[in-house]
Amino acid sequence: MSWQDHDHVDDQTDIELAVSNVWSVSERADKLIRGTIHKAGTIKDVMMHAMEEFGELSTEVAILNGTNFKQPSVDGVAGEAVDVILCMLDIIKLHKPDITPNELAHLMQNKTAKWARHVERAGGGQ
Ligand SMILES: [Mg+2]
Repeated sequence: MSWQDHDHVDDQTDIELAVSNVWSVSERADKLIRGTIHKAGTIKDVMMHAMEEFGELSTEVAILNGTNFKQPSVDGVAGEAVDVILCMLDIIKLHKPDITPNELAHLMQNKTAKWARHVERAGGGQ
């Protein structure tokens, strides 16, 4: 199935639903981690924490690829990737506190469409 085979409306609905679900989880996570991990709550603080999370993700990917001989953590690649996503959501919210889940979903839809155009121009996506 190629990018062109997807129905635009269904894709948009899927993205809005996914963003809404992730948003809801991250709102709950925010309440738990405020005052602990992101004490000062600045974008710079969260960016620093995100770099730690990228490092943890990188380690998990290296373990998966057999270039790091540690044991995988309980979180694994997916869990560490989610940590990174939550940090990115935090940065978006700190930068644009009044953004709604729907606005974020539309932004993601536009970015996804842009990626799809690049993939198609490069001859991929088949
Ligand atoms: Mg982590």
